[in-house]
Amino acid sequence: MSNKEVEKVHLLIIGSGPAGYTAAIYAARANMKPVLYQGIQPGGQLTITTEVENYPGYPDGIQGPEMMINFEKQAVRMGADIRYGMATKVDFSTQPYRVEIDEENWIEADAVIISTGASAKWLGIESEQRLNGFGVSACAVCDGFFFRGKEVAIVGAGDTAAEEALYLSKLCTHVHMIVRRDAMRASKVMQDRVLNTPNITVYWNSETEEILGEHKVEGVRIKNTKENTTQDVAIGGFFVAIGHKPNSDIFKGFIDMDETGYIQTIPGTSKTNLEGVFAAGDVQDKNYRQAVTAAGSGCMAALDAERYLSTKA
Ligand code: NDP
Repeated sequence: MSNKEVEKVHLLIIGSGPAGYTAAIYAARANMKPVLYQGIQPGGQLTITTEVENYPGYPDGIQGPEMMINFEKQAVRMGADIRYGMATKVDFSTQPYRVEIDEENWIEADAVIISTGASAKWLGIESEQRLNGFGVSACAVCDGFFFRGKEVAIVGAGDTAAEEALYLSKLCTHVHMIVRRDAMRASKVMQDRVLNTPNITVYWNSETEEILGEHKVEGVRIKNTKENTTQDVAIGGFFVAIGHKPNSDIFKGFIDMDETGYIQTIPGTSKTNLEGVFAAGDVQDKNYRQAVTAAGSGCMAALDAERYLSTKA
């Protein structure tokens, strides 16, 4: 730890998706003076989605980024201290708990709510890494614009892939959707939309063998694993939409997690194995992963933290 003066806060919230902001709203209203660090992507995953149609209270739907701005405004209005910054290390071996921000400042907190969410997964092939940012992206909504009027490919078969394929189909001339099995995981309604969109072609039982191009994406080599054949398709953009990984690495060794890194909470609560440390949202939820369930768990974490801090006081 550096010799700089360590700031002391009552309740520290790490992460700024629906879980973190909801925890901040509740905690601020309960006078816990929460300090929230937003992380690298303020607003979290909803800032890279389009229309949210299933969050109650918005009968006409709402854009994800707009919804997150509203969450933040509400937290600020209640008195939460919202800061831009990234938790880079923690020391939960003694109380008060210590959290390092941006690799320089340490903060001490009586209680901590972890709401760091989850991040996109990658295929892990060499060409994907090499061409990342040069036509390879994990966010169609962020980067689709750059491929207007071009052909693109997307890999994945969940709701995210379906949603992004549909989004891209409105911007691009053609979308080649690479699905590794003979079925999609996406909900029926999303599958139907994909299959009924004329400029989306689905490649079943298919893998991405290689993304082609030296300095920018120029094509993709698709392997049909059932027929053991390959074909090259000319594209300008390649999108990866194969799920997410919980952002929990910095808590390893202190907080109990499952084998894939999801933080384990005591069922029916937001409590972790450490008293005074709570978890909410996608970092502890691999089943539901919805904005509304994340927000609900953020509320639980704030209420659990309030009870904990009041018994401690
Ligand atoms: P999912 O985990 O649901 O799906 C991931 C998809 O990627 C699966 O089809 C999987 O294939 C495929 N995949 C995984 N690894 C690879 C790989 N290495 N190569 C090729 N394909 C791979 O993730 P999503 O991000 O789609 O969705 C997460 C959650 O969020 C879900 O619960 C979903 O319902 C929800 N969601 C809801 C939305 C909405 O309601 N509007 C929008 C977006 C997401 P396989 O099926 O073979 O395992």
